[in-house]
Amino acid sequence: MILGDICTRGCRFCAIGKGKPVGLDPEEPRNVGLSVKDLGLDHIVVTSVDRDDLPDGGSAHFAQTVFWIKKLNPGIRVEVLIPDFKGDRGAIATVVGSGIDILNHNVETVPRLYKKVRPGSVYRRSLDVLSAAKDLRGEVLTKSGLMLGVGETSDEVLETLRDLRAAGCDIVTLGQYLQPSEHQLKVERYVTPDEFAALKVEGQKLGFRHVESGPLVRSSYHAWSHVN
Ligand code: SF4
Repeated sequence: MILGDICTRGCRFCAIGKGKPVGLDPEEPRNVGLSVKDLGLDHIVVTSVDRDDLPDGGSAHFAQTVFWIKKLNPGIRVEVLIPDFKGDRGAIATVVGSGIDILNHNVETVPRLYKKVRPGSVYRRSLDVLSAAKDLRGEVLTKSGLMLGVGETSDEVLETLRDLRAAGCDIVTLGQYLQPSEHQLKVERYVTPDEFAALKVEGQKLGFRHVESGPLVRSSYHAWSHVN
C-alpha cells in the first residue's frame, strides 16, 4: 500500500486511519521496486489510500511505482487497485499509461447503499473509472469487486454485475464483509457458500473473464490466478 497510511475518504467498512495525510515519500516508488525484487514476486498488487489532498490524487506516484517495479523486475505482472481520482481522466490515463497489466477499482457495494457504506464516493463515477481505463488502453484488464452482507439484495448484486460488464469490466471478486472493529459497519448478513457459488455462475453467464466468489474472497485473493 503506497501513498501513506492516512486516507482522505471515510468508507464505513474500512479500518484505515482517516484524516489529513502528511507529505509523500519520494523514495517510495523505487523502494517498492526493490522490495518486490527481494521478495522474488511474479505478480504484485499495488494499492493506496485515497489522496484527495494531492492535485493529481497520487496518480504520478502510482505511475512511478509501476515504473520502478517493472524496471527492477523484468517480466513481472503489475496489478493496481486504485482510487477513483474523483473521476479525473488525466489521472486515470497516467496510471493506465504506466505499463500496468491489470487495473482494479472496487465499486464495493450496490448503488443504493453508497451513502451508508461509501460516503464521499459516487457509484457512476466508479463505473466510469473502469470504462475510461478500457477506453484508454483496450488491452489492460479491468477488475472490480463487491463486499456482500452490508444490506444488499441478490437482485441488486446482479444489477451491479450487469453494470460492471457494461463498463467493460473483465474480472470481478465477491466476498463476505467482516467488521474490522466495533467502529465500522455491522455485518447485516452472512451470505452462504451456496449463494456465492450461484453468483459465480451468474457472473460467468454475464461474460466476465473470471469471477472469484466466496466468503473469504478479497480484492487480491488469488489475484495471480485470474489471468493465468
Ligand atoms: S478509500 Fe480505501 S483506504 Fe480510504 S477509507 Fe475508503 S476503503 Fe479505506
